[in-house]
Amino acid sequence: MVVTRFAPSPTGYLHIGGLRTALFNWLWARHNNGKFILRIEDTDLARNSEEATKAILEAFDWVGLDYDGEVAYQSKRFDIYKRYIQKLLDEGKAYYCYMTKEELDKLREEQMQRGERPRYDRRYRDFTGTLPEGVQPVVRIKAPLEGDIIFEDGIKGTITIKSEELDDFIIARSDGTPTYNFVVAIDDALMGVTDVIRGDDHLYNTPKQIIVYEALGLKIPKFYHVPMILNEQGKKLSKRDGAMDVMEYKRMGYLPEALLNFLVRLGWSHGDQEIFSLEEMIELFDPKDINKSASAYNLSKLQWLNAHY
Ligand code: GLU
Repeated sequence: MVVTRFAPSPTGYLHIGGLRTALFNWLWARHNNGKFILRIEDTDLARNSEEATKAILEAFDWVGLDYDGEVAYQSKRFDIYKRYIQKLLDEGKAYYCYMTKEELDKLREEQMQRGERPRYDRRYRDFTGTLPEGVQPVVRIKAPLEGDIIFEDGIKGTITIKSEELDDFIIARSDGTPTYNFVVAIDDALMGVTDVIRGDDHLYNTPKQIIVYEALGLKIPKFYHVPMILNEQGKKLSKRDGAMDVMEYKRMGYLPEALLNFLVRLGWSHGDQEIFSLEEMIELFDPKDINKSASAYNLSKLQWLNAHY
């Protein structure tokens, strides 16, 4: 069964780019009679808010995208993440790192002065000396020292990351909270997610997540990294190009169906057809047909669609 998900971090309103990602995942699940999960990634307690979660749910409600089962909240799953972190520690696949932020900054500066890529030097990876006192350690996962990480992206093709480029990255902060690349892999695996469609700003997080899957022997999903939406000048979308908050489109009087039609066409096409009913989108959508290049946002297209719905 195809299982997809949309996994926003609740740091603000639902962005139209986020809604497009949600729509692609939703369409692919519905196309396959599969499951679509909504998961709120609220592990960063300092940056997340309940209002933002509410705003995301409200926007979902307005556009009419339904999800299967209850909304999953990562903040309620800390015990699960802790168990997996402990498992990796017990198996020697992760380790405590006592390097302070100041030491790390100093190391990075020296590396940059030597013209090297700034990176953690794995000094606590197989450490046998005396551990410093008074430092709350982070937990780092052991990235492979050799062999490349290779995966097939459904849009970008084969992605190869050399082991020299991989760091032993942090999976738990010094306060014990787990990091994004760790929890996302755990949840996608435990929730049975088979297909991950997300923004290509996450492309280079994927090898990190693959390291987590492999360390725990979990099944790796299929990835589709979608190019960003840009404005007509080829620049990052901003408020000057139109509203960023999905609910703003409601206030402006747009129909949710027209907005979804507009969004599906930003990066996906089917011949010359412009107007699609939701049923047609479900029938025709396939993430392998998503464009490889960024798509241009043009508000007049939405106005035109809205008038024709
Ligand atoms: N929570 C992440 C974000 O909002 C998305 C994670 C993902 O799709 O893997 O950017």
